[in-house]
Amino acid sequence: MTNAELLSVGAELLLGETVDTNAAFLGAELATIGLPLRHARMLPDDRSIIRDAFIEARERSTVVLATGGLGPTHDDLTREAIADALAEPLHEDPALLAELEERFRAFGRMPSSNRRQATLIPSAQALPNPIGSAPGWWVESDGVVIAAMPGVPSEMRRMWAEQVRPRLEALFARPPLATRTVKAFGIGESAMAERLGAIIAEPPDGVDVGIYARDDGVHVRFSTLGDASVLDPLANRALAALGEDAYGTDETDLPGAALARLAELGVAELSSWESDTDGALLAVLAATPLRDGITRYLGGVLDLGTPSGPPIGDAVLQVSLLPQDAHGRSRVRVAMSGAVSIPPTELRIHGSGPQRLRRAAFAALDAVRRVSSSGR
Ligand code: ATP
Ligand code: MG
Repeated sequence: MTNAELLSVGAELLLGETVDTNAAFLGAELATIGLPLRHARMLPDDRSIIRDAFIEARERSTVVLATGGLGPTHDDLTREAIADALAEPLHEDPALLAELEERFRAFGRMPSSNRRQATLIPSAQALPNPIGSAPGWWVESDGVVIAAMPGVPSEMRRMWAEQVRPRLEALFARPPLATRTVKAFGIGESAMAERLGAIIAEPPDGVDVGIYARDDGVHVRFSTLGDASVLDPLANRALAALGEDAYGTDETDLPGAALARLAELGVAELSSWESDTDGALLAVLAATPLRDGITRYLGGVLDLGTPSGPPIGDAVLQVSLLPQDAHGRSRVRVAMSGAVSIPPTELRIHGSGPQRLRRAAFAALDAVRRVSSSGR
């Protein structure tokens, strides 16, 4: 089994000043080449801690990626730490030094601290960085690959795409991770697990199952590096078990499902009215591309108290976030009038803060996409 591991180097990550977006990017990328990340760590700018992390990573993983710590300053220690971990000496590479000096010629003399960026160890190959001064390192030793890339996200992404990813694909080419996702609204994670029962308790060999709570409901995701044809029957069984609570699979999104249902019901122009949701419904709808049949979204009208007057467009979707009850639980009131009608209905929602507002919006859209199937 080929394992990939990531070391994100930088004190600012552990201080919470920078969010490790490199890990999110690389995790998603690695899955697409069939090399899923098994471990990811954030490390301070401490030579011995980084060295130990490389030693541990090389014991359990075939591919060790690192980002950060390749800059010219005293706290950029990834090169030194890799040299320590492999017990190899650092040397200045004349060709790299010449390239670096050439890079700096436009700005005058190269600061002497940048010379460190021209160092290599015998088993390292430099990876060009066309948009920054820090070259990366590609190290193959004892059957383990180390790829060290800059911390700056744009530099890392370019080096990944042009240098690291193609090399990994050539060495470890495997089928990409195949996934099917089934999405439901109106039930929690544990209720979903219960409803799915054996489908998730005893998945076929080589299939991973994850249940994830999101603003737009609960998703169950089936994934495999093996034969992808086992996933469709699983997704179909999940859809059957979830019944009307399931609103779609994979690329289907809840606002899209709601708009598609309205289009089927002949609504071409939709408007919204919302109360105490900070415009969450408006924001969600505005971010949703119009579907066939829906010709216009007329924009939301916010916080006007009780709506009055004729509907704007063919139908008006209304949502109000109600005060939390004594137990801190939130409810929304959803209604629709016009060409499609939903009588005022109170629904429970989960979450707090902005999540609560977005969930209120999604609850309204969920009520809409259920309209014809629930016989309203
Ligand atoms: P350079 O050689 O360009 O100095 P570096 O390899 O030394 O890069 P760092 O000094 O660790 O990288 O970080 C440079 C910048 O990149 C900082 O602004 C930092 O916040 C950002 N950065 C570093 N690591 C990450 C990460 N894992 N995710 C997102 N941003 C990061
Ligand atoms: Mg730096």
